[in-house]
Amino acid sequence: MQQSEVAIVTGAASGIGRALAVHYAGRNIRTVIGTFPGDPHDPEETLSGVRAAGGDAVIHEVDVRSTDSVDAFAQRALDEYGRLDYAVANAGILRNAPLNDLTDDLWNAMLDVDLTGVLRTLRSASRRMTGPGALVAVSSIAGGIYGWEEHAHYAAAKSGVLGLIRSVASELGPREIRANAVIPGLIETPQSLDPVNSLGPEGLERAGKDIPWGRVGRPEEVADVIGFLTSDASRYVTGQSLVVDGGLTIK
Ligand code: NAD
Repeated sequence: MQQSEVAIVTGAASGIGRALAVHYAGRNIRTVIGTFPGDPHDPEETLSGVRAAGGDAVIHEVDVRSTDSVDAFAQRALDEYGRLDYAVANAGILRNAPLNDLTDDLWNAMLDVDLTGVLRTLRSASRRMTGPGALVAVSSIAGGIYGWEEHAHYAAAKSGVLGLIRSVASELGPREIRANAVIPGLIETPQSLDPVNSLGPEGLERAGKDIPWGRVGRPEEVADVIGFLTSDASRYVTGQSLVVDGGLTIK
């Protein structure tokens, strides 16, 4: 009998990552749920969601700022399940900083997670993938599409992801490993519900009215698109960046 596929997902204790782990459970894809030490969100809730959907997953702590930590995370897929088919670099942080207050430390801290963290995740996965597979990185409309004031460091990191993914896609094509990005718009998750660094609940509600779809997105709506990019349905799609924003950026 053919063994079911295996995915690793960083930042899966909450938001889009959690929704993705549950999506994978519905497809019988076994998942290593990446959880950040000290994260206020409970990875056990992700695991419960996976089990309720009839899936199999394990929780593994990972800090994408550390190469060793990310290597151990990717290795867990092989140790636990004996294979690795999909890796999703989803973990990210968002910090608000007007340009005049954007210190080198803040800049470097942002890039370490939101850009180098993506490289570490894709690299660790690529080194362990033997057969056909797919990598996905989570960017943002703030990277390359939309000018969001006071988020220059976030925008730089998320733009960098788009270039990185095209290069990786070209390089890994001959190994039948695809690499794509998703570009979420405004999605209701702990990150966007933070009123200090993002819009907060009221800001999201207001912003939703200006989106052609009439509301902000749900984590599952991004997870399903990542699911498409990590499925046979997208087998001839690589090096692409897919916007998932309910039409926010077409206006
Ligand atoms: P979230 O805050 O729920 O998820 C982010 C996850 O990343 C958290 O679980 C957090 O613990 C984890 N994380 C933070 N630092 C980490 C580190 N050093 N190592 C490992 N994990 C770490 O928010 P989300 O919206 O689900 O975010 C998922 C991705 O989507 C992020 O990359 C985010 O930038 C991106 N995104 C979100 C939106 C939105 O509107 N919510 C829009 C565009 C892009």
